[in-house]
Amino acid sequence: MAIPFFKEMRIGGYLLKQKMLGRKRYPLVLMLEPLFRCNLACVGCGKIDYPDAILNRRMTAQECWDAADECGAPMVAIPGGEPLIHKEIGEIVRGLVERKKFVSLCTNALLLEKKLDLFTPSPYLFFSVHLDGLKDHHDKAVSQKGVFDRAVSAIKAAKARGFTVNVNATIFDGHPAEEIAKFLDLTVELGVGVSMSPGYAYERAPDQEHFLNRTKTKKLFRDVFAMGKGKKWNFMHSGLFLDFLAGNQEYECTPWGMPARNIFGWQKPCYLLGEGYAKTFKELMDTTDWETYGTGKYEKCADCMAHCGYEPTAATAALNNPLKAMWVSLRGIKTSGPMAPEIDMSKQRPAQYIFSEQVQKKLSEIRKDEAAAAQEKAARKASTAA
Ligand code: SF4
Ligand code: SF4
Repeated sequence: MAIPFFKEMRIGGYLLKQKMLGRKRYPLVLMLEPLFRCNLACVGCGKIDYPDAILNRRMTAQECWDAADECGAPMVAIPGGEPLIHKEIGEIVRGLVERKKFVSLCTNALLLEKKLDLFTPSPYLFFSVHLDGLKDHHDKAVSQKGVFDRAVSAIKAAKARGFTVNVNATIFDGHPAEEIAKFLDLTVELGVGVSMSPGYAYERAPDQEHFLNRTKTKKLFRDVFAMGKGKKWNFMHSGLFLDFLAGNQEYECTPWGMPARNIFGWQKPCYLLGEGYAKTFKELMDTTDWETYGTGKYEKCADCMAHCGYEPTAATAALNNPLKAMWVSLRGIKTSGPMAPEIDMSKQRPAQYIFSEQVQKKLSEIRKDEAAAAQEKAARKASTAA
């Protein structure tokens, strides 16, 4: 594994501490989105469909550090948008590393080579490069030719400078298992770890046709893992999460395991699904009606098997049942035979659509802020002139 031993120890120790303290809900990874603006427009993306006034907003470095302190999770993942567009990204990462947070900076890598000087290699810092498959597949997924080559070149440059690099792939329907297996072989050649997750069916993504349902996801991952027997694919996931993807574990999601903070506030209930916002992390934990979310409970969660919801479940399961976790890692992922029973979907509540309402609310806040800033500026100018 590319994960340093002490990181595993620290995270294991953190989980154990939460268990000993009897905490029912606690975060594992803070998903920090300091901006939504991106320099790509991928067809499966559900994060960039905002008006310009919102895409132009940034969290300040101080807001990012405060979020990490408030939440207390040992890891911080920085997705976006494209975090390398943020002018203070070097500063933000430096402050998080100083706090001894493990930082995973998620990037489409278009700006990575140019911006490497902003960062210093550290056991606390990982670049997680968005790569959805081999060249043709990736360039199609991100709707731009040449992106794959630039990403691979940036991965090599970052590794040559001493940085740890992983890749993250979102898997959609229609991606043949053989191709995914070849892509995983390539990650071995590049010497990078890989995380993979079925794409969450974002309601605002331009392409709604290619999201995997749960049955197809399990079948696809079984086929992929069957091709990986004896290979040295370096997954940045727990064995139990991979076993879940292959349909061998019946898990409910842990939406508070990877809480999301962005320019709107703390997102309810999780990184994937925006159903309202809280001002503080405590408010998020105390006021979200957690029982009403998850597969089988809410229509928008029906097909979700994404790592941010289920990796924390797998981590807790490993803590509660280490022998089972050890057995899965020794035996490998089961790729044939009956699957674990599927969650009953007959009682899920219908989807609610509040995206536009939230956007309008944010836009009116932005307008108020801008008016106040303009008034202050005018008052300052008047007092200097006087
Ligand atoms: S690179 Fe990431 S944030 Fe940017 S459009 Fe693609 S999926 Fe969305
Ligand atoms: S199933 Fe869980 S992790 Fe997935 S969208 Fe629903 S609440 Fe979020």
